[in-house]
Amino acid sequence: MKTYKNNLHHFKSLLEALEQMPTIGKKSALKMAYALSVENKFLGLKIAHCIENAINNVKECEICNALSENEICEICIDSTRDTSQLCMVLHSKDIFTIEETGDYRGIYFVIKNLEEINFVQLKQNLKEKNTQEIIFAFTPTLANDAIMIYIEDKLKDLNLTFSKIAQGVPTGIGLDHVDQLSLSRALTSRIKI
Ligand SMILES: [Zn+2]
Repeated sequence: MKTYKNNLHHFKSLLEALEQMPTIGKKSALKMAYALSVENKFLGLKIAHCIENAINNVKECEICNALSENEICEICIDSTRDTSQLCMVLHSKDIFTIEETGDYRGIYFVIKNLEEINFVQLKQNLKEKNTQEIIFAFTPTLANDAIMIYIEDKLKDLNLTFSKIAQGVPTGIGLDHVDQLSLSRALTSRIKI
């Protein structure tokens, strides 16, 4: 079996690449490699094309770090958004989860890496947009609490209100695993900190 697979060089490369994807195990990788390169070659080529386009076009918004295909994202340039509220999330994919609830009309900031936050720039943006409240949309863990305290301290001279979503949100999991109703409730019944 080992020799057999080793002679299928291109199939093996595809299989090994797919196995590196998050949540994809060996069995799923084999199914996917077969589907993409044998069963549905058209879909395989379409996916290859989409991946290439996404890699070349998706970047991060220069203001809020959200995913964007332009320098500034759709949310930051949208004049109908309520800039008095800024929701801080850990990952840009969390924005998809919150936007899907349809309850939040404020703006965002993706933390990504705490050490790389340009607080001078962030403060400038908060002042320009007249932001009044920072909402931390993190699931409750000790590490996440420490991030909130750190950011609150860095922004303390701006006279902002800080709140966090907490109720109904389970501890220690990613925001993308929280169901929409719980997240929606957690946003409206956020707690002042
Ligand atoms: Zn943005």
